[in-house]
Amino acid sequence: MDNIKKAIKHLNHSMSKWDQRTPIPFNEFLEILTARPPEVIRNVFQVFHDMVKFYIGEGIDEHPDDPESIHYVSYDCSKLFVEGADHPFFADRPFANRLISLVEALKRGAQQNKIYIFEGPPGCGKSTFLNNLLKKFEEFANTQEGLRFETVWRFDRKIMGGFAENESIPFLEKLSQLFDNASPENGAFLKEHATPHFNQDYVEVPCPSHDNPILMIPKEHRREFFDDLFKNDEFKWKLSTEKEYEWVFRDNPCTICTALYEALLNKLKSPEKVFEMLYARPYKFNRRLGEGISVFNPGDKPMRQNILSNTMLQRRVNSLLKDSNQVKYIFSQYAKTNNGIYALMDIKSHNTERLIELHNIVSEGIHKVEDIEENVNSLLMAVMNPEDQKNIQNFKSFSDRIEYINIPYVMDLNTEVEIYRNIFGKHIDESFIPRVLHNFARTIISSRLNTRSEALLEWIGNPEKYQLYCDENLQLLKMEIYTGHIPAWLTEDDRKQLTAKRRRKIIAESEKEGVHGISGRDSIKIFNEFYSMYAKENKLINMSILCNFFTKIRQDLSKSIPAGFLDSLIRMYDYTILQEVKESLYYYNEEKISREIQNYLFAINFEPGSVETCTFTGEKIDITEEYLESIESRLIGANVDKNKHLAFRKDTQKEYASKTLTQEIMVEEKSVIETKIYQALLERYVYNLKEKVLDPFLENENFRRAIKDYDKEDFKAYDKKIKNDVTYLVNNLCTKYKYTQLGAKEVCIYAIDSDLAKKFANPQKS
Ligand SMILES: [Zn+2]
Repeated sequence: MDNIKKAIKHLNHSMSKWDQRTPIPFNEFLEILTARPPEVIRNVFQVFHDMVKFYIGEGIDEHPDDPESIHYVSYDCSKLFVEGADHPFFADRPFANRLISLVEALKRGAQQNKIYIFEGPPGCGKSTFLNNLLKKFEEFANTQEGLRFETVWRFDRKIMGGFAENESIPFLEKLSQLFDNASPENGAFLKEHATPHFNQDYVEVPCPSHDNPILMIPKEHRREFFDDLFKNDEFKWKLSTEKEYEWVFRDNPCTICTALYEALLNKLKSPEKVFEMLYARPYKFNRRLGEGISVFNPGDKPMRQNILSNTMLQRRVNSLLKDSNQVKYIFSQYAKTNNGIYALMDIKSHNTERLIELHNIVSEGIHKVEDIEENVNSLLMAVMNPEDQKNIQNFKSFSDRIEYINIPYVMDLNTEVEIYRNIFGKHIDESFIPRVLHNFARTIISSRLNTRSEALLEWIGNPEKYQLYCDENLQLLKMEIYTGHIPAWLTEDDRKQLTAKRRRKIIAESEKEGVHGISGRDSIKIFNEFYSMYAKENKLINMSILCNFFTKIRQDLSKSIPAGFLDSLIRMYDYTILQEVKESLYYYNEEKISREIQNYLFAINFEPGSVETCTFTGEKIDITEEYLESIESRLIGANVDKNKHLAFRKDTQKEYASKTLTQEIMVEEKSVIETKIYQALLERYVYNLKEKVLDPFLENENFRRAIKDYDKEDFKAYDKKIKNDVTYLVNNLCTKYKYTQLGAKEVCIYAIDSDLAKKFANPQKS
């Protein structure tokens, strides 16, 4: 316990002196390590994962109880890609889910010897994506949450002097001269990387490869070492069994650290004494200096010297150690990003050469600097245009070392709308009737999706059955699923058939879409033109303005939009607003309906003509043919012939007698309103009530005019019933569906004038 307290106190202390990066002795480093092992023992893949999760969080599953859920959830990527960014990047739901599964796979260590190429069409924002991602990585890696340690050797004058005394110049001063006298090019490089730090008592030489200090423990002793260090807790179990920690027992320190360790051991004859010279300090990331993160643009010229060495240092070290082969002081530019990120912005020009070199390194697993092997344990990333594939197509072996991640145009309509809001301001919503802004996004997205979806066709079969709500290519259905929404207009059967397997197939299609059509860049320009043309005070943008824009004003765009899409979009819109108007007008007395159904269930067990007291409600019922038919008309629809009434009544009575009464009520002791038959009748009753809710108003010219006059003086002159109905309708549209009064009026008049109720009269349940 004391050790842990001390370690945390020390950590806190070192954090407050962050910029000084004060190295701490190895044994103090071990105290911090034992206090917070999962944070200290992290390679770049683990820390990259932690970074993404830190900013994005766990994600929201809107339907946690759905047994067929494939955990295709909503991630809020704004902290990672939008907040504090010079240029925001918007990750839509399919891409965010892909990114998360990638970082999880990286953490698990399944595929670390690969180059990850984010490939996307021009104008998809991939450079912005990489820039923002690296910016946040740099930020995170330099905070306590992302902190990792690197190796520093501190040579104590007193101890070292002891064995260097036979040299004409003491070892440390020689080292000092070496660095001062290094050639300008190498000198600058060495100063950046391995600048020895002098004071009167010691000299510091940081590891140029940013090795984690735990790698200094000889590989063959590491298991034993950690076994002694940790209690038998969860972390120890993970460390010894999980693939993500294999590197702890597999990786070697860099050649310089290895050689220094061995030389010191040779001189000091005791590992303990060697570890007294081992220090740890925070690994500080600096993209501008290429420290921990390097990003190369195609135009960046290759470095003149790839191998960094220092002949004078080499000679002195050789002489000091009396052995010309023990320490080879050479390393490459890859050392700078070892345990960090090496990234290429576009694969063309010099970056093609860099990618080929990286590929060779990754394929062979090691990288040679002269005859010395160097570790390249970096996260290797690139972004690329599909057309640049030709630059690397001659390298067949690339396929197994390169992992492509598609970064297509936005296909989630909520994200597309979020982009407009971010660029033009949140107030843009006020210029649109609800849903029209999203329909603008749907139109843009329709140009990006494939017109044929095998996954949807296999599931839905014939798209014609949904022609009232959806386009023949089922793009509107797919868009809903990409946003994580399952539309209500699907039949019960299709809803049930949407299994996890089918969902995976549909989402997988997003990997191959969004590579053509209207680009992200263009959609912003188009929206700008549209918005400045039509956003006006006192006139809301509606669907006919939208369609007019895409078919007449910008006729050139209509060839990007699939044929018939806009017509289907209007049908889906009509259907949706009709539901909204009905819901807003619908009012029922729940208790009255309940009593009516209970009485009916009771009454059908008697011959018409009798008078009985209902055992459920206690009401006296005059059971006549008219009485039964009046309730049935609410259940199976009006104007149905007498035979259908009788058949329905007979079936209901049969089910009531054979299942409801004998099983559910008598055996299971359910009350009547808990029974299946009651629930089914209630659903029918409410459904039919809603279906018919508009009927009294459709032919009523007064009602239409009253809506138009709603906020005017003339409204007062209408009779009380109409005034109440109109007020109820408008208020509900405003509160339930976010209409403004102006929008609510317009949408009601539109629904009446377009005769939507008749268009969508649904025979399904009558
Ligand atoms: Zn090293």
